[in-house]
Amino acid sequence: MPSAAGASIARWQTELAQAFRDPADLIAHLDLPKRLIPAARSAAADFPMLVPRGYAARMRPGDPDDPLLRQVLPLGAETASQPPGFSVDPVGESACDAAPGLLRKYDGRALLITTAACAVHCRYCFRRHYPYDAVSRRGHWWRPAVELIAADASITEVLLSGGDPLSLPDPVLERLVADLRSVGHLKRLRIHTRLPLVLPQRVDDALLGWLRDWGPGVVVVLHANHARDVDDRSVRAACRRLRDAGAVLLNQAVLLAGVNDDVQAQIDLGEALVAAGVVPYYLHLLDPVAGAAHFDVDAGDARELQRALQDRAAGYLVPRVVREVPGAPGKVPLERLG
Ligand SMILES: *Cc1c(COP(=O)(O)O)cnc(C)c1O
Ligand code: SF4
Repeated sequence: MPSAAGASIARWQTELAQAFRDPADLIAHLDLPKRLIPAARSAAADFPMLVPRGYAARMRPGDPDDPLLRQVLPLGAETASQPPGFSVDPVGESACDAAPGLLRKYDGRALLITTAACAVHCRYCFRRHYPYDAVSRRGHWWRPAVELIAADASITEVLLSGGDPLSLPDPVLERLVADLRSVGHLKRLRIHTRLPLVLPQRVDDALLGWLRDWGPGVVVVLHANHARDVDDRSVRAACRRLRDAGAVLLNQAVLLAGVNDDVQAQIDLGEALVAAGVVPYYLHLLDPVAGAAHFDVDAGDARELQRALQDRAAGYLVPRVVREVPGAPGKVPLERLG
């Protein structure tokens, strides 16, 4: 099937086009109680549901508490009134746009918001209310951002973020990465993505082609929250292909009530990551985004969990537990939070 531009549609794009978008379909597919449908539909009216079929196939039928399902199924709790402090811009991101899509918060690093699109909609996402539509995304929209990066030799790493950068078609990513490659002082490209976990077919030859062409170092930061996000043959194969192309693989998770807020779940996640060649990097405390309060774990419980993890697991299995604090120069480690 040809696209408007005449380029062929990749297999992963076809898969994504077939993802579950109506909560009633996902609920029926997983044999879940029909009474979940009305609340799911009204929460999805705020932030649409999106679940690739291959990811849904890894959920346990009949289990409304399945940790993969819980990350993606809209619930009535999202539309309930939220505790104080839960807002639509919890990390103060919309305040620091330097050029369209460019965020410069940290020394040495620049973050490019490449697209609003993702392959899955995570119900706890802090960008669920991000004003993506305020920036147009046509043609070589990234040129002004690349010019700012080129003019500042202190920037040595560019982070591609979103949305999910790997939800963009490869011809677009290839052009963007080629423009970044012309900036001599960049040492690393970093890609923050969930696609290798929820749609592992995404790691195809076209992707590996521009990744290899990039040249300097590549770091891919995955976003697995539960061992079963990773513990799958096709996911491990996708990770292996990325590593074979020279990428270093790290993981960042979000601490989520009912998904991964106990020591065993964290140990299992670390073990599953290392088995796939991925090093646990960050465990984020939830950003207080409106609609996600039911996922919140308080800082005291997080501290206890971190201590128990340090007691029980090899050092490299224990991620840094951090929180995003608006205005702070970096992510703030839990130890330094008041
Ligand atoms: C998290 C983040 C970074 C990178 O932080 P690291 O500690 O290097 O992982 C850069 N820019 C923004 C806007 C971020 O939120
Ligand atoms: S993939 Fe990332 S940006 Fe997209 S909804 Fe999930 S957490 Fe948010």
